Amino acid sequence: MSSLSWHRLSRTKSTPSPTGQDPVNSPGHNDPQITEGAGAQVRSGATSNLSWAARTDVGLVRSHNEDSFLAQAPTFAVSDGMGGHAAGEVASAIAVTTIAEHAPSHADDLLLGAAIEIANTAVMEGAATGKGKMGMGCTASAVSIEQNKMAVAHVGDSRVYLLHNGALVRLTHDHSYVEELVDAGEITADEARVHPSRSVITRALGSDPDMYADHFTIDVFAGDRVVICSDGLSSMVEDSQIEAIAVSSATAQAAVDNLVAAALQEGGSDNVTVVVVDITDDGIIDQHRKRYLTRFALIGAFIVGIVAALFVAASLFVSHSWYVGVNGDTVAIYHGVNASLLGHDLYALSQSTTVQLSDLPEATQSNLQNGVVVASEKEAEATIESYREQIAADKAHAQQIADKSTAGTETSTDNPAVPTNKTEGGD
Ligand code: MG
Repeated sequence: MSSLSWHRLSRTKSTPSPTGQDPVNSPGHNDPQITEGAGAQVRSGATSNLSWAARTDVGLVRSHNEDSFLAQAPTFAVSDGMGGHAAGEVASAIAVTTIAEHAPSHADDLLLGAAIEIANTAVMEGAATGKGKMGMGCTASAVSIEQNKMAVAHVGDSRVYLLHNGALVRLTHDHSYVEELVDAGEITADEARVHPSRSVITRALGSDPDMYADHFTIDVFAGDRVVICSDGLSSMVEDSQIEAIAVSSATAQAAVDNLVAAALQEGGSDNVTVVVVDITDDGIIDQHRKRYLTRFALIGAFIVGIVAALFVAASLFVSHSWYVGVNGDTVAIYHGVNASLLGHDLYALSQSTTVQLSDLPEATQSNLQNGVVVASEKEAEATIESYREQIAADKAHAQQIADKSTAGTETSTDNPAVPTNKTEGGD
């Protein structure tokens, strides 16, 4: 067993009410009622991924409630005050207020632990400046939930439990004398709950400027339920019963109501505070959706890139292409290709000529209708020139034929052949 440090604080949770007032309900009451008046507070709420409820109750023995809670998504906390009337509740109120001001907006356990350490300073300053009383202190157990991450930070013996797949797991390790006895194997956890020194805690806010918070981050999932409570619950109700109630309660509100009622049923000898947070959406679906959209965007960008590359390649090809074609009844030179895309012509008239299409052979005319592809404008001009030469040659040839034909006709018709004298003489 380790020795206790100088800042150990002791609470008087088992002492009778200093006011001498009767408790709201006597211990062992068959039908304990959750108080709704002074000393009791209830909160509930929800975000897109969380649903929560919180309840604090003075219990059946104490005259005032020194517990405080924080339910300000994504941060939730429970603080159990110590130091007696006008001290414990001040300390716990300072703690949750300071944690609310300094808690991170995301699941960062280092910053959440730092918020508790700032709260420690605030409680000490409060005592020193007359806000509350000297010697006041408190516990602080806090969580901050972001998607499927939960940061946990705590000091003292207020606990954080996680209900996952129907099993309740205690996430925090009490900073208490009896917890050290349990760790040393000298007593069991059940014996610790009823140990006479169960009120002695070994780390708390308000007494040690060098106090530090334990902190860590765990994964949580949709369907998980987080339970944060003061020892008014955990010292009165066994973990197995807390688990049974947490499992069987349909909503966070029902869970806090049933857990507080169970603590009162077991005697309610201390203030009891319970915050239950249900993880309704761990962000996994959203992560899948974002991953899908990212993949879709990448594929889309790839397709757009391919189309853009093809467009550029096609533009380069068209801008470097030439052909000889038809412009009305004449032959012309075109820049581009003899085609259209989405209603847009991929060519432009470059030069008109006087070469008549009808002067060319039928086969050439047919080729020109489809466009005769050439390598350059210069080659197109050469082709046009070859057509001119071909037409000129054809015309000259035709003229020759015509001339010969004309000569032949004159001999046979207008000037029929007459036998020469030599022939005649030969007869
Ligand atoms: Mg307590």
